Amino acid sequence: MVNWYSPALAQIVDAPASVNLVPNFSATFAWGFEMPDGSRFSDPRWTSLREGAEAFLLSLLADPPEGRMPLRPGSVRGRFGHIRVLVQWMAAEHMRSFEDLDSDAVDRFVNMLHARRGRKGDLLSVSTAEGYLGTIRSFHMQRAKLADAPPVAPRRVSEMRKRRWTPYGRHPYTPDEIAMPLIGGAIDLLAAPADRILELRDRVAVLSQEARHPGRTRRRHINCAMLDEPCPYADRYPHPEWPLRRLAYMLDRLADACFVVIAYLVGARASEILRLEADCLEHHSTAEGEEYAYLVGTITKTSLTEHGDVHRWLAPEPVQRAVHLLERLSAPLRKLSGDQNLWLHQLGYGRSPLPTTMPVGRLSSPTVNERLNKRLRPFLGLPEHQGHPWRLTTYQGRKTFSRFVGRRDRTGLTALQRHLGHIHRAMTDRAYVGTDFELSELIDDQAADETRKALEDLLLAPRVAGKAGVMLSERSPFRGRTSPADVDAYITQILAETDMRLGVCDWGYCLYRRESSACLGSESEPNPVLRTQSTCSTCANFAVTDKHRPVWEARLQRNRDLLSRGDLDSESRALAETRVAECRRILGQLDGGQLNVAEA
Ligand code: SF4
Repeated sequence: MVNWYSPALAQIVDAPASVNLVPNFSATFAWGFEMPDGSRFSDPRWTSLREGAEAFLLSLLADPPEGRMPLRPGSVRGRFGHIRVLVQWMAAEHMRSFEDLDSDAVDRFVNMLHARRGRKGDLLSVSTAEGYLGTIRSFHMQRAKLADAPPVAPRRVSEMRKRRWTPYGRHPYTPDEIAMPLIGGAIDLLAAPADRILELRDRVAVLSQEARHPGRTRRRHINCAMLDEPCPYADRYPHPEWPLRRLAYMLDRLADACFVVIAYLVGARASEILRLEADCLEHHSTAEGEEYAYLVGTITKTSLTEHGDVHRWLAPEPVQRAVHLLERLSAPLRKLSGDQNLWLHQLGYGRSPLPTTMPVGRLSSPTVNERLNKRLRPFLGLPEHQGHPWRLTTYQGRKTFSRFVGRRDRTGLTALQRHLGHIHRAMTDRAYVGTDFELSELIDDQAADETRKALEDLLLAPRVAGKAGVMLSERSPFRGRTSPADVDAYITQILAETDMRLGVCDWGYCLYRRESSACLGSESEPNPVLRTQSTCSTCANFAVTDKHRPVWEARLQRNRDLLSRGDLDSESRALAETRVAECRRILGQLDGGQLNVAEA
């Protein structure tokens, strides 16, 4: 295939006057690709379509839809790929103008995408399909600036039938052994050390105002004064003789930690987090008197409008703290620039704890990615993953959050249990997810994935405890076998026929049915208040495998220790004895105690 590169388009394309091209801008696109009839898209017969496409791509670089950042040249390449597929399909459909892309035409385009196969021969992924439709949506948003543009915005992929696409999943989540020290370290940094670091910055500001010396002398004077000021985490900066640079470094790490806390405990996309402004916290209380704080921002990625959709993300305490700190952190640059964004920084090399004459800009995702890996990861001393440093990306916060919330098995997430439980309770009515359909899907996919793993564990386990577990295990054709291939098909069939979602918690599985729910759960799920180990241990919905054995062994030991104390009152002793009996019963079943469904 011959590649024909047009020269610098900004100079030769007669872009509409309303497209405000930035000075010295240039871009190149390989318009010489082959069309279905064997011609090249660079041929004169395609001029009108090609110019429409060029003007659209240029507009994304120079004058994007309101509320969106101009695309970087690298990202335009992705859009160009979508446009290439689109115009090839349009040519085959005898369309010669983007205005022909009405609802019917877009539906036919979606059908074509559905029929396409990825590199491994599987269905296109949700994100790939959304990429194509997102490009058409952006094209539609730019219609007022362009001579030719689609007249309608396509639906989101998440509103279409799910089985048409391969679910999200290519982006990894952060493994627990990395995520826990990452989030825990960030939360610790945002506690008292953050206040001290900001106090130091304020101290530098005062010294700077007081200093009567000009230029370097003044800097030396401030440097000397700051040498005596203790700084948290000082040992993590290699040059103690440079207290100002160290302070600038610490201020940047504070911002990084704020990003981590918000991304991993809120689930917003990086672009949405980096667009947050001062005063973005709102507080609401429910009819039951429970207080919730929300982060108020904008979702533009899947929005059908130029302005994006206002969205409220539930903000647990560490996120509220992060926002308050960001407000203090960004205050000087917000004052200097008039921009209310919370992630302002100064461009150019060399960092200073106080504003300089350098231009002010907003942090971008690539910059955050670089800072997370090159600075924050060593700063927090994150462990390696399978012998290599784990590469953090801004997207992993969202993916990891959906996994935490969706899986509900929070073994090992002790520091976050309370926050996640709070979020999960607020999310059960779905009001929280609001317009963020993709997040809702991510969480659903995670819940389905968790159910699949739990079913596999239950069907294959040689011994299972709990009434529902015993019943399921006795009927399992796979019991005691090691991962037979057909168990996967069996589980797929169960999931397709029942839409089953297993409740998973640290101490077992819940095959939820309301009529036999010992915790008096609702139509759709257990009662979180009455759902305790004691209640579950007697419930007909309950199942336990060896995976949960450590939780029951630890409980047994705790209660035995209690019973060995001489000062225990009779009520506490009776409670401890009951718990010991419960644990023994569960562990006995796991050890192969002869228990059938009737006994259980
Ligand atoms: S008591 Fe436990 S097993 Fe029973 S329905 Fe409630 S959560 Fe599920």
